[in-house]
Amino acid sequence: VPEQAGTERIDAGGRCVTPGFVDSHTHLVFAGHRADEFAARLTGQAYAAGGIATTVAATRAASDADLLAGARRLAAEALRSGTTTLEVKSGYGLTVEHERRSLAVAASITADHLPAVHPTFLGAHVVPAEHTADPDAYVDLVRGPMLDACAPFAQWCDVFCEDGAFDADRSRTVLQAGRDHGLRLRVHANQLGPGPGAQLAAELGADSADHLTHLTDADVDALASAGVVATLLPAAEFSTGSAYAPARRLLAAGAVLALASDCNPGTSYTTSMPFVTALACREYGLTPDEALQAATLGGAAALGLDDVGHLAPGARADLVVLDAPSPVFLAYRPGVPLTAAVVRGGRLVWSSS
Ligand SMILES: [Zn+2]
Repeated sequence: VPEQAGTERIDAGGRCVTPGFVDSHTHLVFAGHRADEFAARLTGQAYAAGGIATTVAATRAASDADLLAGARRLAAEALRSGTTTLEVKSGYGLTVEHERRSLAVAASITADHLPAVHPTFLGAHVVPAEHTADPDAYVDLVRGPMLDACAPFAQWCDVFCEDGAFDADRSRTVLQAGRDHGLRLRVHANQLGPGPGAQLAAELGADSADHLTHLTDADVDALASAGVVATLLPAAEFSTGSAYAPARRLLAAGAVLALASDCNPGTSYTTSMPFVTALACREYGLTPDEALQAATLGGAAALGLDDVGHLAPGARADLVVLDAPSPVFLAYRPGVPLTAAVVRGGRLVWSSS
């Protein structure tokens, strides 16, 4: 490639350069934390979808400024570990105004020195306490006034299709309404047990089905043949002490894999894609190259982006200099900050020195 005028040369000193990580599944807009719930899990208490209500209460009570400051702090943290593109979901407001506010906050995270943000509407995260007696009334709120208010701020409509959250019919209703509002689709599927989420994602042609911890062979085949990106979240499986998703079965069936952090205060309070990559190597049996590809190009596929997640002429110059000679070190040296520098859009935006 001929060097153009104004080109900035950065000497990586023989260190490994990778594409910036594309973290295609996060919940960065929230207040408070759930360390007590995590500690309880360590003594044997199982995770259930209802824990989300704790964060909903804290998020509703927070000021706009505090919500934005918290989301920006996490986005900056993500950038320092090499993430240059982030998907960010709403889902801790669960009223028309609080969901709209969460998406407005997500849209406000963007700055040159932070990852690029792509917002997702997740009004169908759980049924909030005030609607548990009549979940269908909540679905009507989500598919009507809430989507009307939120769709202008979002690129995708997501739903938590799981026991304790939304069943297949209610999930389908929400997703079809999201599509009618011009949004593309993603699904939280098959996290806590076998269920209809993966098949629903395939049926509706979602961009991505996420979690996928518990899959039948038919689920695997449906995702692969529908071209739905399989977004795996090993840090959530680590935090909840669950089984790990069948990554090798998905790859063998021809599915495209993405790896993401699922950063959220309940089940995966990390922004570290290097940590996610290390888990994927050890627990999914991915090679370091497969894991790195899923954490970059796979995430881009899950977000429908063709100009990030790889380094080539025409792609965005979003890249990471690792303080290491090869990507193997991401798994070989877990828990160690290996990011030496981060370039976003061709500009050095962070450096460890
Ligand atoms: Zn999630």
